[in-house]
Amino acid sequence: MNRKEIEAALWADLRKSPTEVSITELGVVLHEIRHAIHHLQSWMTPKRVGSSLTLFRTHSEIVYEPKGVCLVLSPWNFPVNLTLDPLVSAIAAGNCVILKPSELSPNSNVVLRQIVSECFPPGEVSLFEGDATVAQELLSMPFNHIFFTGSPHVGKIVMRAAAEHLASVTLELGGKSPVVVDETANIDAAAAKISWIKLMNAGQTCIAPDYVLVHESCHDALVEKMKSKIIQFYGKTPAEIQQGPDLCRIISNGHFGRIKNLLDDATQRGATLAFGGETLENEKYIAPTILTNIPEESKIWEEEIFGPIVLVRKYKTPEQAIAIINAQPRALAMYIFSNDDRRTSKIIAETRCGGVTVNDCGPHFYNSELPFGGSNNSGIGKCHGEFGFLEFSNQRGVLYQAKWMPNTDFFLPPYGGKLRQWLLEGVVKWF
Ligand code: NAD
Repeated sequence: MNRKEIEAALWADLRKSPTEVSITELGVVLHEIRHAIHHLQSWMTPKRVGSSLTLFRTHSEIVYEPKGVCLVLSPWNFPVNLTLDPLVSAIAAGNCVILKPSELSPNSNVVLRQIVSECFPPGEVSLFEGDATVAQELLSMPFNHIFFTGSPHVGKIVMRAAAEHLASVTLELGGKSPVVVDETANIDAAAAKISWIKLMNAGQTCIAPDYVLVHESCHDALVEKMKSKIIQFYGKTPAEIQQGPDLCRIISNGHFGRIKNLLDDATQRGATLAFGGETLENEKYIAPTILTNIPEESKIWEEEIFGPIVLVRKYKTPEQAIAIINAQPRALAMYIFSNDDRRTSKIIAETRCGGVTVNDCGPHFYNSELPFGGSNNSGIGKCHGEFGFLEFSNQRGVLYQAKWMPNTDFFLPPYGGKLRQWLLEGVVKWF
């Protein structure tokens, strides 16, 4: 299965530990393949649907057919998972596919190219390597569907290019995913899950918590617990944490500089460095970092952090937390830690985002029975399981008129005549 080659490539690209490779790359793809094999027959079987009384002599069905030739543009942060997962859905739906992974994960691309060339004839699935110019060259072609995973900024470029050929798009984007921790929550569990998912892949995860809104009564307890969890997970001293085998590095010098600038800007404006803050440019290393008391005008509130820095902010009332969330563009994910079901329902009902996990971080991503994707700024369309199959399928509606039906002119013009008008009015009521 090329496991060793994949692990070596991801270590070279991101210094990703083999355990994280299993959890976040291989495990996800293997599950998606098994799930598709198990359910494909049922997904692709034409679905008989009902019809209104006025169509009583007909029967109708939805037929699932491939969209055609599809383009998959994938990012570098989970290069195996986010290239092969959409491929599973695309070929399950019967399409031919061109893959273009990110130029920033070159070692993973070598293994991906090898896997693709071993498994598929080039006329069915091909992989093209290259940067934005290659992506734009591909985007100028008349694909039937484009599946893009990446930033909202490039998502807009992709959608503009797709409009040229009226290709359908799936945009799996990112955003600032919030966490709400209320005063009824299990603070120990919240601190463990937030710290783990935030620091996985060094925070370069689309569903990573970006900022934590915590009730003022448990703010200090949560911050202290998060500090102790980070020490427990990654090491007692800054040097031990940096040298440990489980923390990824930032993908490129450019991304390192962007995250460091956000951190410096926040601390210069007066944010409190509650934990971490160390950076090593030559290693593209940013330590697990917790910021509190972050001034609202800090740039770090304006963009997705996509690095190992978490913002912790106090709130007084649920309404205040909801208002803070709604002041941001719609996020990809949201997490709520609470033992109060009514409050949890209120927060879900009064906010909008792609997906939610309650009392944990991230597992809604792993359930193939749930649609995964964003909302507006965090994405368009859904993937995983049957939702991915449908995204790559044209759902054709087919209605069969009864063969025995005599050719009737009842609805045909001319429409005059009182009796006919009266009968038609009656029929319209049954539509
Ligand atoms: P990116 O948008 O910079 O790049 C993604 C892909 O687009 C790459 O293949 C790249 O070569 C291509 N590309 C870059 N510039 C382009 C251009 N001008 N024209 C055409 N194509 C171009 O994204 P990234 O930095 O690789 O990934 C980080 C972003 O992706 C974050 O915002 C993150 O939240 C998001 N993301 C979302 C998901 C999800 O499932 N929703 C998963 C992972 C990452």
